Amino acid sequence: MGKNNTTPIAPEVAAESLDPQDWEQARSLMHQMVDDAIDFIAGVRERPIWQEMPDEVLETFQTSLPQEPQSAEAVYQEFKENILPYPMGTVHPRFWAWYMGAGTFSGAAADFLASITNSNLGGGNHAAHKVEEQVINWMKEIMGFPATASGLLVSGGSMANLLGLTVGRNVQAGYDLREEGIKDGKRFTVYASTEVHSCNQKAVELLGMGSRSLRKIAVNEDYTINLDALREQIERDRCEGLQPICVIGSAGTVNTGAVDDIDALADLCAAEGLWLHIDGAIGAIGMLADNVRPQIAALSRADSLAIDLHKWMHMPFEAACVLVKNQDAHKNTFALIPEYLAKNTRGVASGSNWFSEYGPQLSRRFRALKVWMSLKEHGAKKFGRMIARNVEQAHYLKDLIEQHPDLELIAPVGMDIVCFRYQPAGLNTEALNALNKEIKLQLEERGIAAPGYTTLGGRYCLRIAISNHRSREEDFDLLVEQVCRIGEEIRN
Ligand SMILES: *Cc1c(COP(=O)(O)O)cnc(C)c1O
Repeated sequence: MGKNNTTPIAPEVAAESLDPQDWEQARSLMHQMVDDAIDFIAGVRERPIWQEMPDEVLETFQTSLPQEPQSAEAVYQEFKENILPYPMGTVHPRFWAWYMGAGTFSGAAADFLASITNSNLGGGNHAAHKVEEQVINWMKEIMGFPATASGLLVSGGSMANLLGLTVGRNVQAGYDLREEGIKDGKRFTVYASTEVHSCNQKAVELLGMGSRSLRKIAVNEDYTINLDALREQIERDRCEGLQPICVIGSAGTVNTGAVDDIDALADLCAAEGLWLHIDGAIGAIGMLADNVRPQIAALSRADSLAIDLHKWMHMPFEAACVLVKNQDAHKNTFALIPEYLAKNTRGVASGSNWFSEYGPQLSRRFRALKVWMSLKEHGAKKFGRMIARNVEQAHYLKDLIEQHPDLELIAPVGMDIVCFRYQPAGLNTEALNALNKEIKLQLEERGIAAPGYTTLGGRYCLRIAISNHRSREEDFDLLVEQVCRIGEEIRN
């Protein structure tokens, strides 16, 4: 561009940045945010778990793009009025829905610091990279994986499963699948129980194998994969010219917390030459707890393992980890190094083991910091105690249910998941299903608790997933009391 075309930048614009104009004012607003955050967490037990957003609040989310500035104070005020009072409720001691974690205060503080430093974990020679490496090494140590294994922190269990299955598919293909894609006529098949989490089916679909290729194998009475049915299906598929590549074992299913017989799956995979991937989104971190470890210890035999850290380890969303036993296989699946990502021998672009070579993402947030700071602050043993206590609480709740004439346990307690229903005499299945659905909704609408739900053998039940470091025994007493009270009220 010719010199004549440039207009001088106005002085007020030339000095402009996105930083606060007044640092002292910013400091005082930030201090206010911290104070409010502490009150929010410290007082959570006293508040309703959830409340419906009123129309006036919903309307505020319909306004069009703000072009002009407002003060940071005004924006924060809006957050306090329209967002803060209407959370999902995961931080509450009686949040037991789906399967989540409760978050931690120090994890949130670490997330703030991670954003302040704004490091990019794609690659490079900087401390954040060392932190993630160390966290991955700790995960290997917890899971009984060898030091030579590789890993990556990812957004959640869904991504961890996708990455593990991607490596498995590429290794098992037997040709250069990265270059050639899935060749004409190749039908790879993957095996898991009917209880496997849906994200694994999405992964199989994304990997171009089609959902038909995910063979969902029948379960036993305890909801674990039926090994005879698995063997038969593999044999049948081989006879039909399909190419079995992988078995996905569940270390804690989402419905009932069932743990597949991982040792037997590992034997079978070794004998059949298949990749063993374990979906440990729920259970894997239970390796820290004495009353979970024996059940899942064989996951160290997996070729790849998905571990969620924002579930039973309570890291603020998002945090998970995938481990792959064969580092070369992992790297061969994802490494692609154009000139602009070539490493220098010195400076910020040096260092080895760039994380962009272990997954599809280039830019990545510094999610390792919250895990690193939390494990240092609390120690692994304390996380183990919190997990173990949830398992004990599940059995405490089971006892309350079994002692109550109007309550029925619907499935064996799997780790920390309890499925039950309110079942007064004289109602058929349909009526009981409707009644229990209504009880669930009223527990939420009255702000008492957030239970999960599932249907097992046609029976709708409340599903209490106790992945919560704030729950106490009294919370389960209250749950049982309120379920029965609401149930009676609805019937009368
Ligand atoms: C939650 C869950 C997932 C998915 O994990 P996200 O962290 O939600 O992506 C996968 N498998 C199981 C068994 C789960 O419970």
